[in-house]
Amino acid sequence: MDLTFSPEETEFRDELRGWLTVNAPGEEPRGDEEAQYAFRKAWQRTLYDAGWAAVHWPREYGGRDATLMQSAIFFEEMGRIGAPLPANVLGLLLAGPTIMAWGTEEQKERYLTPILSADEIWCQGFSEPEAGSDLAAVKTRAVRDGDDWVVTGQKVWTSGAQYSKWCMLVARTDPEASRHKGLSYFLMDMDQEAVQVRPLVQITGEAEFNELFMEEARIPHENMLGGQGDGWNVALTTLMNERSGLGFFLQVRLRQLLDRLVREAGENGRIDDPVVAEALGDMHVRTETLRLLAYRGLSAIEQYGQPGPEGSLTKWLWSETNQMLAQLAVSVRGADSLTTGDSWAYELLRSRGNTIEGGTTEILKNIVAERVLGLPRK
Ligand SMILES: Cc1cc2nc3c(=O)[nH]c(=O)nc-3n(C[C@H](O)[C@H](O)[C@H](O)COP(=O)(O)OP(=O)(O)OC[C@H]3O[C@@H](n4cnc5c(N)ncnc54)[C@H](O)[C@@H]3O)c2cc1C
Repeated sequence: MDLTFSPEETEFRDELRGWLTVNAPGEEPRGDEEAQYAFRKAWQRTLYDAGWAAVHWPREYGGRDATLMQSAIFFEEMGRIGAPLPANVLGLLLAGPTIMAWGTEEQKERYLTPILSADEIWCQGFSEPEAGSDLAAVKTRAVRDGDDWVVTGQKVWTSGAQYSKWCMLVARTDPEASRHKGLSYFLMDMDQEAVQVRPLVQITGEAEFNELFMEEARIPHENMLGGQGDGWNVALTTLMNERSGLGFFLQVRLRQLLDRLVREAGENGRIDDPVVAEALGDMHVRTETLRLLAYRGLSAIEQYGQPGPEGSLTKWLWSETNQMLAQLAVSVRGADSLTTGDSWAYELLRSRGNTIEGGTTEILKNIVAERVLGLPRK
């Protein structure tokens, strides 16, 4: 693909840069989750008000009808100024695209704009205690009762559930059907007594994710996304978007972290150690490879309309590279970085989950082997 900017793309970048010069969000608060969330919500609102919240979304839902290349420029520019993730990242990258692909006109009308404006935050209720990698093993069940579905079961590791109004919920609607076929996909209102959210504290000390208990929660039938029994295919749309969309954003963030480490290694003289210099050079090559892979993923979306299984490769390589970078940073910075509450200590601890969230590395390797390389299933 051609990575040189066209005059329109250059104009788009310049307009965004100009806007960011005036509207950059400033330093994100650290150590206070509520304050950080409020900051990210305010940032998303600022983006939305100026039409920058999801540039490739249709204008009628608050986007800019941008091309995927312009979208890539958008993420690169956000990375350049070190902008935080917007509060509704799962809504923007997962729920929105899934609703656009599967939703009725009424559903698109109802849900898309509040996702962009961050008025309604979304979470992803897929994983359960006995169904993570094996999503088809979902046990949460939904039983039809008049115009509603009544949902009982448990989800786990639900990121951002504490802030969410809506949940992308996969539940079993047909216990008789074979595993994948018995699932349906719902848009569940979190704002009801029958839905309980309990925080889970991570190794970083944050409670980013939660357990979710549903005890006869009610979901109107009109909130089913796709048809009854389509849950598996709708969920795959969400997962493909998760791996490719986040992949693009995360490779930009990886570059930001690497640039910072190179700067710090220059300041404390560690870059003069050939072993450190070589490790930094290796990280540079990996980061650049990921950037090109992420662009290739975009051109695949342009061709086929939806992200394909190649996004799994980007997510797999990103997660391993991010862990290597955090480990390298801590060894370059020395023990202080672990004892002083340095932000690298946070990166080191948070990165442990990278090879699990959004699909474990083993599962992604299986997808790449079978669906990208076409190797036989064992
Ligand atoms: C930070 C973080 C945030 C998350 N946020 C969310 C969220 O918002 N919503 C949500 O629904 N989930 C979320 N998750 C859950 C995540 O999707 C699951 O943890 C993940 O899918 C793995 O499932 P599991 O934990 O049940 O592990 P398991 O599936 O039990 O896997 C255990 C081990 O077995 C390996 N394994 C399993 N099956 C195979 C196989 N077929 N071949 C080879 N190896 C295999 C796995 O790779 C892993 O190493 C989050 C997880 C993390 C860490």
